[in-house]
Amino acid sequence: MSTLEIRNLHVQVETDQGPKEILRGVDLTINSGEIHAIMGPNGSGKSTLASAIAGHPAYEVTEGTITLDGEDVLEMEVDERAKAGLFLAMQYPVAIPGVSLSNFLRTAKTAVDGEAPALRSWMTELRDAMGNLRMGNEFLERNVNEGFSGGEKKRAEILQLEMLKPKMALLDETDSGLDVDALRIVSEGVNRAQAANNFGVMLITHYTRILKYIKPDFVHVFVNGRIAEQGDASLAEKLEAEGYDSYLKAASDA
Ligand code: ADP
Ligand code: MG
Ligand code: MG
Repeated sequence: MSTLEIRNLHVQVETDQGPKEILRGVDLTINSGEIHAIMGPNGSGKSTLASAIAGHPAYEVTEGTITLDGEDVLEMEVDERAKAGLFLAMQYPVAIPGVSLSNFLRTAKTAVDGEAPALRSWMTELRDAMGNLRMGNEFLERNVNEGFSGGEKKRAEILQLEMLKPKMALLDETDSGLDVDALRIVSEGVNRAQAANNFGVMLITHYTRILKYIKPDFVHVFVNGRIAEQGDASLAEKLEAEGYDSYLKAASDA
């Protein structure tokens, strides 16, 4: 049982006009086995929240705390956060020229676990996971994300999730740019990995359609750098019908 606890998190970035506060007091607790959907309009700070948890250097925490099982995440380097069990599937996965997906996965797994996985069972598991994600074996020899389509990048992110088995999965718009079939395949991958490993999930999304496949236990409406409302899955249905306008208006009136 693991707990990711975020308390009063304030985050700023450096811009040409000076520092800009993006997160303005975020409180969120995610336990193993729970799926939390973070929903909100573009520019509300959802990716910033994921980046700050993962330790992206552009995002400076000015106030608040992040702990994983009581350990201070903010004191950890990026690789230490991954070793501690935090996993981030980025909204815009980057290409890694010269590194095959096969080598990348094995290197990442070795770094996270502190020892190399046994080759034979690793390859069996990898091929199974790729089969489930409808990824051909040729992807193993291709450089990470180089020339991958949007949907292929998202599958590769979920393949990492399945193979690395983190304690907490931060999934940033894993649904964006996917057609209906790819959305279902990727969602099934998340559900399969979560059922097998019981990790906690922070599922960032702009749209409700992925929530038909991945059922959230909690829905948080993220507006203007903080959580404006929380509820159960029925809140997503309300957002589907009404959109974010009322939240944006309330935030600008405040
Ligand atoms: P979301 O993921 O909800 O669409 P983001 O977290 O990507 O929102 O961005 C929130 C706001 O912070 C936006 O106005 C964005 O332009 C700004 N922002 C995010 N990252 C940076 C950065 N590295 N430099 C400057 N501004 C940034
Ligand atoms: Mg909560
Ligand atoms: Mg984003």
